[in-house]
Amino acid sequence: MPKRYIGRFAPSPSGPLHFGSLVTALGSYLQAKSCQGKWLVRIEDIDPPREAKGASSLILKTLEAVGLHWDDNVLYQSACSERYLDILHSLLAKQQAYYCNCTRARIHQLENGIYDNYCRQRYLTIGQGQPLAIRLAQHHPIFQFEDKIQGLQTVEPAKAKEDFIIHRKDGLFAYNLVVVLDDHYQGISEIVRGADLLPVTAQQISLYQLFGYPVPTYCHLPLVLDNHGNKLSKQNHAKPIDLNNLTALTVQALQFLGQPILPDWRDASQTELLQWAIEHWQLTDVPQQNRLSPANIG
Ligand code: GLU
Repeated sequence: MPKRYIGRFAPSPSGPLHFGSLVTALGSYLQAKSCQGKWLVRIEDIDPPREAKGASSLILKTLEAVGLHWDDNVLYQSACSERYLDILHSLLAKQQAYYCNCTRARIHQLENGIYDNYCRQRYLTIGQGQPLAIRLAQHHPIFQFEDKIQGLQTVEPAKAKEDFIIHRKDGLFAYNLVVVLDDHYQGISEIVRGADLLPVTAQQISLYQLFGYPVPTYCHLPLVLDNHGNKLSKQNHAKPIDLNNLTALTVQALQFLGQPILPDWRDASQTELLQWAIEHWQLTDVPQQNRLSPANIG
């Protein structure tokens, strides 16, 4: 029997949802629901310095207002440190990870800024005064992977072999590690998210290989860009979703995703608009890149 589809939306609470995150939430929701799957929400609150107060509950309220109702309980990464720590310790014990004290300035000087795995053979231990990062000893480099929207992706060999950080010098877990641990923990079968995360996907797949977890399929959605061609982001203070204008914004998000719109949507409820969108969703119509001019967005 084929495995049940489980998708997810995994926002970091660094600010309120904006049009770009609405596109990601909607794309992952429609793909999950059109596959009769579950759609989970995970709050990636592992980076307190980048968190905006009240953002988590605001994000959840906005999703509910849009009509994107999640299955199961919301998972908060901040509540999972013990599970992460156990895995980190076991990687260190098996020498699949190591401590590193290289500075950013040193790595910057290396070719293409790619780490040369210098500390792998130095066997540093904690308790020598300075804070240390922890890097994965990369034995499962991924040189190519398939994305259902963006097609075959090829990774620069040096980048694929780089020992990347899984626990930061400041004591925080790195996104690349915990995203894989949680996607596996929650049984996610397919990851639908923004194309800004395409460059770190090979590193994440290498972790699936290391742990022997089944690798999910990937769909990276086109990014919404602002007037300057930059990604709309919470850090760049993109305009929050206007809760009084939800139907029109949902229609714009559907258009951005290349989907047809319920013909008489102005007379429809948000529930009807979404139900029609689930029934007509075609992943193959999602464009690889942003096609809307920014003036049309918001
Ligand atoms: N938390 C990440 C973000 O808000 C997304 C992580 C993911 O979808 O893998 O950009």
